[in-house]
Amino acid sequence: MPRPWLLLALIVASSVQADHDRETLYQVSTIDALLTGVYQPLAKLREVLPHGDFGLGTFAALDGELILLDGQVYQAAADGQVRRMPPDTGTPFMAVTFFDADQILDPPPDQTYAAFKPWLESKLPSRNLIYAVRVDGTFQHLTVRSVPRQAPPYRPLAEVSKQQTLFEHAAIQGTLLGFWCPTFLQGVNVPGFHLHFLSADRQHAGHVLDFRLASGRVQLDRTEAWEVQLPLDPAFLNAPLQGGGPEYRLAGGRAGTIRAIMASMGRDPGEMIRIGRCRCFQAWRNGAKKAF
Ligand SMILES: [Zn+2]
Repeated sequence: MPRPWLLLALIVASSVQADHDRETLYQVSTIDALLTGVYQPLAKLREVLPHGDFGLGTFAALDGELILLDGQVYQAAADGQVRRMPPDTGTPFMAVTFFDADQILDPPPDQTYAAFKPWLESKLPSRNLIYAVRVDGTFQHLTVRSVPRQAPPYRPLAEVSKQQTLFEHAAIQGTLLGFWCPTFLQGVNVPGFHLHFLSADRQHAGHVLDFRLASGRVQLDRTEAWEVQLPLDPAFLNAPLQGGGPEYRLAGGRAGTIRAIMASMGRDPGEMIRIGRCRCFQAWRNGAKKAF
């Protein structure tokens, strides 16, 4: 029988853990892996859903856009159909959290996506945190896209997206959902806004390209932890990930990300991992005056 103080400590510890889990952006794989063409199933929905009830992503073979809203997973297929997906469905990229609104905002009426971005960014308490974004409203106009199922060998997303299907909607009710991520997450997640849409009648959905929000309600969930599941699938392990991150300008005139600079010098990526970081860091600390 535990003593009362021990019991209390256990309760406090478990609630801290529960809060941590709810305030974490959990993601499978990285956006750069997806952009490179890693569309293999890297996790099952049933493995991801314990980490969140809200989020987005895509399906194995890039088979449409994924929407996770209120614990339900929907597929926005390239043929325009919206389907509920079973728990054994595979995903190559998915980002989820438990949505608990910290801020509720009334957006100005008739706001375009171009105006919405700086407006909501001006409301963020800090640009160095992650935010889950949910907008329930009526849209005068909305453009979403979906991508068609691919067959191996997979091509990069930039090529595949030329085959995307656009869906234009007028006077539609529904929910925008997704994330705003800081710039320093580049390469691993999408800096700035990444939003998907699901209509109120669950008949229309997709990756958001543009909209005009007639009226609605914006909810923000500040997320201060980030967990990335790095897959052990060979497709991920062997993907030529260049990485994002800050850009550096060296005395010799070379500029770009650390990886880009190393690549321009003909250095082996494995060698870079062993010694490159230290030297790049040194260059950065010295005001980028020290060349490799
Ligand atoms: Zn998307």
